[in-house]
Amino acid sequence: MLLSSKLPGIGTSIFTVMSAMANEHGAINLSQGFPDFDCSDRLKGLVEKYMRLGYNQYAPMPGVPALRKIMAEKIKALYGLSVDPDTEITVTAGATQALFCAISTFIRPDDEVILVEPAYDCYRPAVEVNGGRPVTYEMSAPDYTIDWRLLERLITWKTRMIVVNTPHNPTGKTLKNSDWRELQHIAVNRDIIVLCDEAYEHLVFDGQRHESLLRYPKIFERGLAVFSFGKTLHTTGWKLGCIVAPPDLTKEFRKVHQFNVFAVNTPMQHAVAEFFEEPEEYLALNGFFEKKRDFLLSAMKGSRFRPIHSEGTYFQLFDYSAISDEADTEFVKRLITEHGVAAIPVSVFYSSRKNERVIRLCFAKTEETLAKAGELLKKI
Ligand code: PMP
Ligand code: GLN
Repeated sequence: MLLSSKLPGIGTSIFTVMSAMANEHGAINLSQGFPDFDCSDRLKGLVEKYMRLGYNQYAPMPGVPALRKIMAEKIKALYGLSVDPDTEITVTAGATQALFCAISTFIRPDDEVILVEPAYDCYRPAVEVNGGRPVTYEMSAPDYTIDWRLLERLITWKTRMIVVNTPHNPTGKTLKNSDWRELQHIAVNRDIIVLCDEAYEHLVFDGQRHESLLRYPKIFERGLAVFSFGKTLHTTGWKLGCIVAPPDLTKEFRKVHQFNVFAVNTPMQHAVAEFFEEPEEYLALNGFFEKKRDFLLSAMKGSRFRPIHSEGTYFQLFDYSAISDEADTEFVKRLITEHGVAAIPVSVFYSSRKNERVIRLCFAKTEETLAKAGELLKKI
């Protein structure tokens, strides 16, 4: 059959490629972002409990009420915003499905969507498959900051949405209050939707607070905030998350969500709802992952890799220009085959080729894994 691909430039994701290569060569896998340790036994027990209680059929389309209710309480406590669990929170199959559905809901052919690069991989294809046009704002190493005056120049009458991500994958940088004030100035009074990927809301370091979109009521009027329970619970394989948006946006979002997945895994939603009743666990994550970041940094001390400060996420960037001139996509292959460590090349998060010599390492790993990786990388 003669097929004309809607996504001709898209191949297998870098995370799949690098994890497969790490397995093939028996390398330590600091590439794809997932913990190499298990989630809590209490959480697993709760899933079993709800399965045995018979919560094994379809959940309500927007999500199990108990989970939406506890999320509303969590949001009020953390970000000070009162949201209605019935009309403003929808449980999704991870952050990825929330992002894809949000983009599908609002982007029509020829709409322009501003993406900030380096950008997580799922935004651009979601825009393109819906006929939209990604417009790129590029951040550069080592600061990876946004000059909002320059970003504003990319806006045209076709701009429908701006996608931001904080804490940011892959750079580990976070949006500050001053960024939100600038973004508010740009988006409010224009017909622009703000979609904020907050998958790493509980992984913010150095005593900073997470600057959620939900702290900014004026942006929230035209905003959607996306969360991933995979990151909060050490359960990336469960693919659970949620999206929070005002009633008019949520109503439209659910029209697409309903025919995309309809509803999400029932017993796990009940389990997460009960698990979130004790906030101590997720409130401890900032410290837990900050310690891992610092452990990786100390394991790498004395190496020729230069760290670029990570303020949040699972990730730490390293500049390797003191070691090699090779393109990062080549360098990471050699890291696996010759040195036994898998990393992600940061250039793949840009749509146009970048010649910066930077790789991303994931520190959501046991100290044993990080220490071994450090030993290997110090020898280079
Ligand atoms: N956004 C970012 C920035 C991510 O890093 C990830 C994956 N870790 C996702 C979204 C997807 O999250 P999920 O696994 O919940 O779909
Ligand atoms: N978010 C993960 C990362 O950045 C990857 C998730 C995936 O493999 N799609 O590594």
